Amino acid sequence: LGLVSARVQPGDGDAEAGVRPKNLDELIGQMRVREQLELLLAGARGRGTPPDHILLSGPPGLGKTTMAMIVAAELGVSLRTTSGPAIERSGDLAAVLTGLSHGDVLFIDEIHRMARPAEELLYTAMEDFRVDVMVGKGPGATAIPLDLEPFTLVGATTRSGLLTGPLRDRFGFIGQLDFYGDAELEAIVTRSAKILDVPVTAAGASEIAGRSRGTPRIANRLLRRVRDYAQVRAGGVISVSVARAALAVYDVDELGLDRLDRAVLTALVESFGGGPVGLTTLAVAVGEQPDTVEEVCEPFLVRAGLLARTPRGRVATAHGWRHLGRVPPAGSFG
Ligand code: ADP
Repeated sequence: LGLVSARVQPGDGDAEAGVRPKNLDELIGQMRVREQLELLLAGARGRGTPPDHILLSGPPGLGKTTMAMIVAAELGVSLRTTSGPAIERSGDLAAVLTGLSHGDVLFIDEIHRMARPAEELLYTAMEDFRVDVMVGKGPGATAIPLDLEPFTLVGATTRSGLLTGPLRDRFGFIGQLDFYGDAELEAIVTRSAKILDVPVTAAGASEIAGRSRGTPRIANRLLRRVRDYAQVRAGGVISVSVARAALAVYDVDELGLDRLDRAVLTALVESFGGGPVGLTTLAVAVGEQPDTVEEVCEPFLVRAGLLARTPRGRVATAHGWRHLGRVPPAGSFG
């Protein structure tokens, strides 16, 4: 568990704040979503009304929080931030909603994890800018309607498939974030290195980018770890050989798989003969929550062509077997 929380919340949060893009121009990659957002914001600005509610979906670390902050910054309004798991009762959400000023952006991270009563409260809030606060219990309970200031909800989810239909339908725009390409990640590493004032060669940046699992947050974290190594053992400059030596110390392999990714792939191959095996069984084998395996590891393992999801369960592909230095069995997947 320590391993995973270290990955999802990379400790150096302050460093992350420094390199986070602050406006649309500073954002690298995601050209499609960026263009869609630009239009949405410009249209709303022209009309002088808050833009439609926005849902951003995609694996962790691809820029959902960053985009929510940028939406508020570009509109010149305040941002309020909360998360699905933090909203336990509908009253918690009502308090947040009634505290919003005209045009504010409310960011709800992990919106698919919100409790059902809170979600239902959100329906009328999103559609009519109104909440019905229930007073009393049982047959005598009454709903007291409260008007809200118009606001824009930005929801983020790693699993848009888990959102209920009624909630999804209330978003005017759904942006799907994809993993970043190597050139984009290299640009992100180069930009962050400049902000952090670390000298890095083009080849050094490219080496870090190639092991970042398509994810800016990971690129920035690897950069900070390689910086430590460069500073302590190599005279400060990040060259390709320094990057390689540093990443070896941190157990990041050539494809960017870290310990947990490799544990999942290794369990699949060695304990289950390459599968198919169910998600829960696989998660138990590596001592992790099924959600973590599914939302954090699998998207990248699938994208890298190492693991496939089939109707009968997870299977290791031929490439997955070879990545572990094993010969794939005849007829193996992919
Ligand atoms: P998410 O909310 O999807 O988990 P974040 O928005 O927190 O991801 O992004 C993680 C980090 O990655 C940010 O701090 C930021 O520095 C970096 N980042 C994300 N997207 C971009 C981008 N398009 N360009 C440059 N840096 C980015």
